[in-house]
Amino acid sequence: MEHKLFIDGKWVDTTGGGSMAVVNPATGETIGTVVDASAADVDRAVQAARKAFYDGRWSRLTPGERSTILWRLADLLEQNGERIGRVESMNAGKPFAQLTMAGDIPFAVDNLRFFAAAARDTHGMRAGEFSKGYTSMFRREPVGVVGQIAPWNYPLLMAVWKLGPALAAGCTVVLKPAPATPLSTLMLANLMAEAGIPDGVVNIVTGGNDTGQAIVEHPEVRMVSLTGSTGTGKKIMATASNSLKRVHLELGGKAPVIVFDDADLEVATAKASFAAICNTGQDCTAATRVYVERSRYADAVESLVEAMRGVKVGMPFDDATAMGPAISDVQRQRILGFIDRAKAGGAKVLTGGGVPKEFDAGFFVEPTVIVEADQKAEIIQSEVFGPVLTISAFDSEAQALEYGNDVLYGLAASVFTQDVGRAMRIAQQLEFGTVWINDHIPLASEGPHGGFKQSGFGKDLSAEAVGDYQITKHVMIANQ
Ligand code: NAD
Repeated sequence: MEHKLFIDGKWVDTTGGGSMAVVNPATGETIGTVVDASAADVDRAVQAARKAFYDGRWSRLTPGERSTILWRLADLLEQNGERIGRVESMNAGKPFAQLTMAGDIPFAVDNLRFFAAAARDTHGMRAGEFSKGYTSMFRREPVGVVGQIAPWNYPLLMAVWKLGPALAAGCTVVLKPAPATPLSTLMLANLMAEAGIPDGVVNIVTGGNDTGQAIVEHPEVRMVSLTGSTGTGKKIMATASNSLKRVHLELGGKAPVIVFDDADLEVATAKASFAAICNTGQDCTAATRVYVERSRYADAVESLVEAMRGVKVGMPFDDATAMGPAISDVQRQRILGFIDRAKAGGAKVLTGGGVPKEFDAGFFVEPTVIVEADQKAEIIQSEVFGPVLTISAFDSEAQALEYGNDVLYGLAASVFTQDVGRAMRIAQQLEFGTVWINDHIPLASEGPHGGFKQSGFGKDLSAEAVGDYQITKHVMIANQ
């Protein structure tokens, strides 16, 4: 099937753009084509969003009106969850049962309901007599036309994390899904129209990096929100500086899991192994570096190897599947390259490290455990974005913290201990945007999600995300 662009509430053809194949990563087969949008397409989308913003068809609705429509969108997504989930599973290789019953789809519905409610939270507005003879009003205004650029690992969820707060705030949007996974976002367009989001408020342009670049360069776009790699974040920030756009960057991660000697090892290793293979490890908060207090190191290694060996790798529509394929052959080769270089550097692969033999197509990789890697080795320092865990030992609380913080990233981390005081000390000192205690991976719509350091800045989810799409205006009224 050939898909079009969604601009100003209509499905339209490209002006001068190309086309891109969309592939099922579990089979390698092409399942559709989408437009590789041109700069002219981006301009059309921005103009539609601009008109929609300034005529107030969305930005001047009352918070209650916007909320009602967002709530309707959540209901529609819930009703269509299985249909969209089927396409998402086929396009992103995600296990269908996890996706529709416990994962992305129900969470996306919950996120939308949260943002529907957050649209009505006007706590940032204030008024008062702060200067003699004047009344001041602080208004929280929507930023304007927002460019939103999404990654391929959670296509629908990332679209919702971007659209939810922007729409709650009253912005209008040009959204670009990742080139590999545009289909569920395009399906969402029809639901948005059905929910009553006015034409031009959300425009969806499919395309590659050049399409993204055109969004960032466009002078009428006031803010760009990216979820993607740290390298792309740096490029976008540099480009956005030309027109001094606000940037909101949700970038890569390299999450540590710190396991103290008093931890419940069974719980810690079960949580860490699940958080390593969840979404085939293609998760910015995935458990990647396990640090275990030396007295429990051997037991933890044994338990993690057993857990990772036991992961059922399979086809996304098989209910028994715990882990599907990587998104593409390029991504699989990238993962295998990291493992090969780790081995060449002296690390040992205890399980996995290759391609499972039972598949003759698709981009499957084995859940992998690596030990004896140096703290400064690439496999410990760089984001692999695959189902690969390293395990290292530490000898003191200070060393655990030093190792945990010793990466460029700062998105998420976890600590396993029964000692509340220690848990709180570590949580305070870990330089990560999310710290779990005795767990790893769950998020909540109310909880701000975003990075420290080179994992970016700005928050997804929570009321803070809505604030990121607003700008404060001081209105001062003379009383005399
Ligand atoms: P990517 O950076 O390659 O691409 C992300 C998006 O940016 C795509 O839509 C791409 O077309 C676009 N893009 C690339 N170059 C661009 C440019 N110069 N200008 C404008 N747009 C451009 O990332 P990916 O491979 O799709 O996703 C994986 C990365 O995303 C990982 O690093 C992962 O950690 C990160 N991620 C972060 C979070 C988070 O919440 N922090 C969540 C999910 C994924």
